[in-house]
Amino acid sequence: MNQLPPFARDLAPKLASRELSSREVTHAFLERIEKLQPTLNAFISWDGERALAAADKIDQRRALGESLSPLAGIPIAIKDILCTTDSVTTCGSRILEKYVSPYDAHLITQLRQAGMILIGKTNLDEFAMGGSTETSFCGPARNPWDLERTCGGSSGGSAVSVAAAMAPFAIGTDTGGSIRQPAAFCGVCGMKPTYGRVSRYGLIAYASSLDQAGPFGHTVGDLAIVLQTIAGHDPRDSTSLNVPVPDYVSELSQPFTKARIGVIREHLDSPGLDDEIRSAMLAAIDEYRRLGCEIVDITLPHTKYSIPTYYIIAPSEASSNLSRFDGAHYGFRAQLVKNASLIDMYSQTRSQGFGAEVRRRIMLGTYTLSEGYYDAYYKKALKVRRLIRNDYDAAFEKVDVLIGPTTPTPPFKIGEKVDDPVQMYLEDLYTVGANLAGIPALSIPIGKTRSGLPIGMQFQGPALSESQMLRIANAYQRATAYEPQLPTLSC
Ligand code: GLN
Repeated sequence: MNQLPPFARDLAPKLASRELSSREVTHAFLERIEKLQPTLNAFISWDGERALAAADKIDQRRALGESLSPLAGIPIAIKDILCTTDSVTTCGSRILEKYVSPYDAHLITQLRQAGMILIGKTNLDEFAMGGSTETSFCGPARNPWDLERTCGGSSGGSAVSVAAAMAPFAIGTDTGGSIRQPAAFCGVCGMKPTYGRVSRYGLIAYASSLDQAGPFGHTVGDLAIVLQTIAGHDPRDSTSLNVPVPDYVSELSQPFTKARIGVIREHLDSPGLDDEIRSAMLAAIDEYRRLGCEIVDITLPHTKYSIPTYYIIAPSEASSNLSRFDGAHYGFRAQLVKNASLIDMYSQTRSQGFGAEVRRRIMLGTYTLSEGYYDAYYKKALKVRRLIRNDYDAAFEKVDVLIGPTTPTPPFKIGEKVDDPVQMYLEDLYTVGANLAGIPALSIPIGKTRSGLPIGMQFQGPALSESQMLRIANAYQRATAYEPQLPTLSC
């Protein structure tokens, strides 16, 4: 890193005191991107000159003595599903390969107002549908801890960018685990806030009732500071919550009050859980016991239905949301023969523009919403969704937070599951519940397997309990004197 510290917590004070300029910091991260991109494929686009120009503006404002946000001048990488006016927003899809949005997503505006430097747009599974970043039209991003393995997904590029210090922070989106699972696979922290906490305006919709954007960082403190910037009401998103935003950052430093911690039995006892992940979880539970927390066994009886429920609701919403990509309104249009009909235009554009997984989901969703099947599938899934949520409500009468593994397995090999959709969907076993219930959840690293692959622990809490959840997760990082590590990459 050219002697520059790679972590935000060390950069912010040096920027504020002008010991470092934002240009120097941005330049150092751009160098990392240039060096590592050919190996990791974490980014879809970036523009060094534009990033440096934005950095210069912050340096000038600082030189004039303006009081700026603690994040001012710090780079952040953005999942390429959030609209930005000054670059393409591809969603990892051929159909939007050249699409430039006429407006910024609300959270992009918030980040720009905080003076953050948008350093690039990160790789993802096409339209955020997947768990390995392999369905991107730009090819897979790679796990910096083992290049043969997937970085998780769909926000894989964002997780890699932070893990490999190509950016100190990143933004991802999470519909069924797409922030938490890649965070776990890459050994970084990632958070999905409460549904409605962060505006979805300008987040290209996959499944609107589940989608939520959130931060990646190296520590729980990093999550708090970015969440502080992107949370809040936005009248342009009708599902945005109009409730005050707590001071996550200062609440994090308040003394840790002993929490009641629920251990999800269905997750910890599930037969598919990797042994090394189970042992790491048991050690983490012991750590909380040592901190004086009460550990309570919790069962979520409907959790076994969460994958089928999610994989009916998400594709149903996707089939409707993606109908706008028709060759007329946005992006790519297939080359047509003379006298081709309108239907030919739609079908050729969509079959050439979308990849196989996206087409599979559109077909699944169209089926489950079709007359005659709607009641049997979609409506039934909505009812089960309610039962899943009721399980969480009952749990949160007994405990403040639920913990469990973020993923059933450590990062799998690239190519291992991509042709077996059911195996890939089962990876989401522990994460989709929080999206179905609309509650906040986050993942932090809790160690590595013997072969050096990261392991993540998930926290889930009641709606709008982000502050408490961050405090509980932070207590673990403090108690274990957690120090973020960077992978050694020989490139
Ligand atoms: N892996 C899940 C899916 O494929 C979750 C994706 C996400 O959260 N965007 O739908």
